[in-house]
Amino acid sequence: MATIPTIATPAADTDVFVLPAATIAGTPVRTHGAEGTQGANGVAHDATPIFNASTGATIGWQEHASAALVDAAVRSAHGALASWRGTTPVARGKLLKKIAELIEADRARLAAMQMQVSGKPPLEADIDVGDAAATFNYYGDLCLDEKAFAPETLALPDDAVTGERFYEAVGVAALIVPWNFPMVTTAWKIAPALAAGCTVVLKPSEITSPVEHLLAEIISEAGVPEGVVNLVNGGGEVGALLTAHPLVDKISFTGSTASGTKVMQAAAQDMKRLTLELGGKSALIVRADADVERAVTLAVGGAFTNAGQMCSATARILVHDDVYRKFMAAFETAVRAIVVGPPQSANVAMGPLVCAAQRSRVQALVEQGVQAGASVAFSGSLETACADGFFMAPVVIAEPPADNLLWTDEVFGPVACVKSFRTDEEAIALANDTRYGLVATVVTADREAARRYKAQLRAGLVWINTPQLIFPQVCWGGLGLSGIGRELGLAGLRSYQELRHALADIG
Ligand code: NAD
Repeated sequence: MATIPTIATPAADTDVFVLPAATIAGTPVRTHGAEGTQGANGVAHDATPIFNASTGATIGWQEHASAALVDAAVRSAHGALASWRGTTPVARGKLLKKIAELIEADRARLAAMQMQVSGKPPLEADIDVGDAAATFNYYGDLCLDEKAFAPETLALPDDAVTGERFYEAVGVAALIVPWNFPMVTTAWKIAPALAAGCTVVLKPSEITSPVEHLLAEIISEAGVPEGVVNLVNGGGEVGALLTAHPLVDKISFTGSTASGTKVMQAAAQDMKRLTLELGGKSALIVRADADVERAVTLAVGGAFTNAGQMCSATARILVHDDVYRKFMAAFETAVRAIVVGPPQSANVAMGPLVCAAQRSRVQALVEQGVQAGASVAFSGSLETACADGFFMAPVVIAEPPADNLLWTDEVFGPVACVKSFRTDEEAIALANDTRYGLVATVVTADREAARRYKAQLRAGLVWINTPQLIFPQVCWGGLGLSGIGRELGLAGLRSYQELRHALADIG
């Protein structure tokens, strides 16, 4: 392998690319040239492969940032902070709108990369790109509007004193994201951080980082000044270096609750500001008055979109006794009809899992759950084209024991459990019987019941009769073990700002 093209300049479809260990102040930093670090294949000896999830083929290599590179990236963000924080919201808004425009213009290439590394079906990959563009547009508009950045005068009981509330960028933000929605999760963090006037160091997941490298190229092309957005590659150890860095003021982390706990401990050291978007074990409730056909559509989408690799997967499906048999029959038909295959398969509805390790993990959980008393009611099937990728057929478990791990633990794969209930109180108690609290879906024709469920379900977002709609205007985040803080919406902007006040008596 004489020359390895960078991701910006892939020489041909068949060429593997190499991702630099870091991009600091707009400059890619490769480590392969350093003495003693070059492995047999021409990339750094500790580089890790990037796979095509649908074929298992190695499509690229990723070098990992050293402690020195993480430090350099944070210092780069720190160096750019004063000037970026000093720009006007309107100037930042124009850049955010430009990024959105460039994402839209590059839609096909961005979707294609997601299809490669994650195996997402074309529609899902395209929706992700659209979501990222919408997020940059939303925060761009918020900046152009300026109101969210203007100081607010306070009404005080003392006429001699004037009071003002104002907001200031937190500082350097470390943004750490997982692999399941790389375009989306990253946009949800970078857009509000830049809008607020923060500079950032992004650490993508080591599994899907090519997507973020493309996004970083677009951000640079839009004209965001050097040093404002920096990127470091690597796994948890690189993330840990970032969260421990004393010049990082804010951490926004999306990932598992186990990693989030470590991130929170690291943040405590310097009292860093923190947003955590973590796991979930969410419920979809089908009342007796539900439109069963619609309930099945929502159940399939809630459990098997992105091959079930969703923090918001509604993998605990609760169905009223009166419609249980009807629901299960229609659900079985729908699950058996799901076309699982590579993105290019006709009518594909579900792609592979993201990597071999994730598939092994999910399969092991199913085996453990079955050994502990859960039984598989039915499952889907795989296309013949699935032989080499990380595919797994969708699985449905009926009536698992309440303490079965498939019912209690986040599986993060195409596995759904169904349980019946008799009363609303029972359904709400079952849905809330978890320490997570991210989302919930209710399917009902009864407005009053919908109101009660909305009030009583412990979840950051409740969908009633809708698919998992997400708008940048609506905040995202959960209760309990699902995390701390909110992304998107005005709260998403505020999470990158310090709230300050001034009181004055100047006559
Ligand atoms: P993960 O926690 O293993 O990794 C997430 C990211 O954190 C990766 O970039 C990883 O390299 C990094 N990381 C790991 N350990 C770290 C540490 N000690 N310090 C700093 N960084 C560290 O999670 P994953 O397997 O990549 O993603 C799946 C999890 O993410 C699931 O639990 C899912 O529910 C959750 N998730 C939550 C949301 C949400 O919005 N609530 C969205 C997507 C995914």
